[in-house]
Amino acid sequence: MLFLKKIEAFGFKSFAEPTILNFDYEMTGVVGPNGSGKSNINDAIRWALGEQSSKSLRGDNMEDIVFSGSANHAPLNMAEVTLVFNNSQKKFASLEYDEVEITRRYFRLTKESEFYINKNRVRLKDIQDIALETGLTKSSLAIISQGTVSQFVESKPDERRELFDEAAGIAKYKKRKIESIRKLARTQENLDRLNDIINEIERKLPNLKNQAEKAKVYSEKFEQLKNIEIAILIKDIQIYEKKLAELNQEKLVLRNEISDLARITAAEESEFNEISRHNFKSEKEIIKLNDEFTSVIEKIGNLKVKKIAFENQQKNTSTGNEEFKASQLISETKKLNLNLTSEKEKLKNLNNSNLELQDSLKKTSTSLDELNESLGKLGRSIAKVESTLDDLKQKQASNDDLFDGVKNVLNNKHILPGVIGTIQDLISVEKEHEQAIGALILAALQNIVIDSGESAKEIIRFLKLNKAGYATFIPLSSIRPNFISDEQKFVIKKAKGFVGFGNDLVKIDAKYQKAIDYILGTTIVVNNFDEAREIAKLINYKHNIATLDGERILPNGAIVGGSRKLKISSLNNASRIQELEQELATLSENQSTVNQNIKELKKTSEQIREEISQKQSFIGAARKNIEIINIDIIEAREEYRIITGKDIDSQENISSSIEEEILELTKEIIASDNLKEELQQQLNVARSLKDKSLERQNLLNDSTNEKRKLLSALKDKDYELKRDAVLISEKLNTSSTRLVQNYGLTVEAASENNEIEITNEEITRRQIIDLSNEIKNLGNVNLDSIEAFQEENDRYQFYVSETNEVQMSIKNLEIAILNMDNQMVTQFKKVISEVNQTLPETFTALFGGGSAKLIYTDPEDLLNSGIDIQINPPGKKINNINLLSGGEKSMVALSVLFSILKVRPIPMVILDEVEAPLDQANVERFAKYLKVFTKNTQFIVVTHRTGTMENCQVLFGATMQSKGITKIVQIKLVDAKNLVEATG
Ligand code: ATP
Repeated sequence: MLFLKKIEAFGFKSFAEPTILNFDYEMTGVVGPNGSGKSNINDAIRWALGEQSSKSLRGDNMEDIVFSGSANHAPLNMAEVTLVFNNSQKKFASLEYDEVEITRRYFRLTKESEFYINKNRVRLKDIQDIALETGLTKSSLAIISQGTVSQFVESKPDERRELFDEAAGIAKYKKRKIESIRKLARTQENLDRLNDIINEIERKLPNLKNQAEKAKVYSEKFEQLKNIEIAILIKDIQIYEKKLAELNQEKLVLRNEISDLARITAAEESEFNEISRHNFKSEKEIIKLNDEFTSVIEKIGNLKVKKIAFENQQKNTSTGNEEFKASQLISETKKLNLNLTSEKEKLKNLNNSNLELQDSLKKTSTSLDELNESLGKLGRSIAKVESTLDDLKQKQASNDDLFDGVKNVLNNKHILPGVIGTIQDLISVEKEHEQAIGALILAALQNIVIDSGESAKEIIRFLKLNKAGYATFIPLSSIRPNFISDEQKFVIKKAKGFVGFGNDLVKIDAKYQKAIDYILGTTIVVNNFDEAREIAKLINYKHNIATLDGERILPNGAIVGGSRKLKISSLNNASRIQELEQELATLSENQSTVNQNIKELKKTSEQIREEISQKQSFIGAARKNIEIINIDIIEAREEYRIITGKDIDSQENISSSIEEEILELTKEIIASDNLKEELQQQLNVARSLKDKSLERQNLLNDSTNEKRKLLSALKDKDYELKRDAVLISEKLNTSSTRLVQNYGLTVEAASENNEIEITNEEITRRQIIDLSNEIKNLGNVNLDSIEAFQEENDRYQFYVSETNEVQMSIKNLEIAILNMDNQMVTQFKKVISEVNQTLPETFTALFGGGSAKLIYTDPEDLLNSGIDIQINPPGKKINNINLLSGGEKSMVALSVLFSILKVRPIPMVILDEVEAPLDQANVERFAKYLKVFTKNTQFIVVTHRTGTMENCQVLFGATMQSKGITKIVQIKLVDAKNLVEATG
């Protein structure tokens, strides 16, 4: 069977020119003189099949295989050999192709080889692997040189064994085993390295683990503490807020109570004082009346004394009893008539003044009604203003209309730096400018004025942390307001319709003017739209203009306008509150004036009533008097008629001067009595009023004393409430500050996130203390250690699992090696036993008799045992092979080699002058015997011996026609013989 079909060589050793050897016969002879390049064919085949040893290629280094030049030929830079094999019997078991073309190329410059299988670039290893598959390796029988033969006999049993290994097909196992062992060593190294790493990690891990566990405990406890403390803080804050609200409410009620009580007390005091003043006056009046009264009584007394004197005188001068009696009765009747007239006059006067008094009482009552009505009205107005004021104040305090961010900043003003207030809280605007300024400032109303950019940074950090919205800040220390240039201002001021510059029209504390200059520094307010357009043209549409109606012309000319009125209620909140407070003060003043008037009117009406009552009692008295006088007159008349028998002539003249005197005195007495009565009346009224006043004063005194006591108690209570409120505020502040400082949370954010419901407060508070102590007792904690431990532990686990894998692969490798060993022993034993079976026949064929046998040098260790040869050449008794002749040694070697070929045929064998030491007869025998194997094996035989040549089917002649360059041609046997003889 023909295995190697063709060799192509170019640039390899002496093949300076492209050389092709086609093999068409099973046994090809190659002949030629020494140094003609025959062995180079053999080298070319081995080189192409992956030979790496330059020594075995008979060179010092790989460059030596490239044609190095000759007298007529320049050296080459590249060597290339291609072998073409017939693979129809799949001798290259792993290759599918029927024909396999193996090429090796070498470049002198790069010192690199390239390998190809069927023109596909492959690795050296791929070539070596397929060479192994076919048995075409250097230690195999495929290439047998003369050196191989002698070496086989002379070499030590261990070295000799290699040939059998190759024949047994265990070379590939050996190679694999070497690879496996190498791999095992590498893996072991890996394992050692891994163990080193693991040891190192194991050293660090416990400490790290302890730290991490401690950190974990800390984190858990901290988280636990945080959760319950937040819950408790929220609860506390809620309680404090509720309590504070209650206290404030209580305080409000109390304050109202106090102010009501104080007001009433003051009113009472002033009434008391007023009464005192009045009493003083009435006392004086009473004294005066009393004096007058006394003098009238005195006067009456005198008059009466005088009258009695005259009456006595009259009694003495009268002549008879009857006459006297009659004249006395006349005089009496006259007196009575005088009295009657006087009483009637008095009654009339009393009735008149009573009517007048009734009338003024009515008038007073109407005025009182009117005053009460206006008091009611005032009360209603006050209530209305108070409620509007309350609404406004509440709105201002609650910040309800504000954006979230702004609201949160204002609500947490006490813990944030530099907050001054919103623009809308800081400014006020005249009513007529409201629409214009409103239109210009609307977007900035909720901007927050703060002291500096640093504060802004801090506040923004707070808003972010609490997800509490956003806000625009105007830091006073760093804003740079824009202004309209003085020249432009001069022109604008002169323009028609100019009202003012925005920043001048807004009132703000001078400290914050910069903020308004920043917002409105380049704004102009103008009367109406047409004038606004004129001014806009004048300043080339450079600044913001607004009309009093709120229309706007923006810089560059855009116009904003329409019928919508801006709702800018928040613009003037502060000034509206001030206005309303003013209004409330005026209303309250009016209220107290009306109250005072009412009080006075009531007093007047009381006085009138008193006078009326006095008048009425005097009217009754007068009436009674009239009645009595009338009876007296009737009685006197009756008596007179009895005495004189005639009626009294009331017109009768008075008979004597005494009578006249008496009558005159009677008149005076009556007049004085009337005066006395009048005075009595006035005194009664004055006294009664004074008594009532005193009574009222006493009452007031008691009530005021009572109220003062109450007021003092209420004030004490107020002080207590205030103190409690301060205390609770402080607690509230401490709790909310703790929330922000310890946990970075606002009360709102904390409440939103709180999930803990406190069931037993006492236990929870105890827990907080315990946890705080536990955390303190943990000492220094490295929070990074949790992650560090995790990473290190992951690394540890990774390396441990790597180690397991490596150990597993070591085990697998060891098993594989063991399997390979078993396989090798089995195959080795088999080949030795098979060779021993054929060896007698081969030996006999070459020696013409005798026997030989292969034996193990160490039957116990077949894997490593060397191989010895036991021989019995015909007719000789030789135990030591070294004692044989050179030819005999070759024969022994060849018989063993042939035996191997018999049991393990290989597709191709190159024999390089192996029969050289044999004599002619043995050469013949050898050559003939060779033919036996050509059925399974292709032979390429390099030879000098004619016996061999004669047995070859074809002969190639190697010549160096051109010095140093091998040329190979097919030649005839006779030419071959000539060629050999010529050189021999
Ligand atoms: P022998 O019959 O004596 O064994 P041979 O025919 O087998 O001889 P080889 O050994 O094949 O001869 O050839 C050796 C020849 O090849 C030598 O002449 C040597 O100069 C030549 N040669 C070897 N390497 C190179 C090379 N790199 N460049 C040129 N020629 C080389």
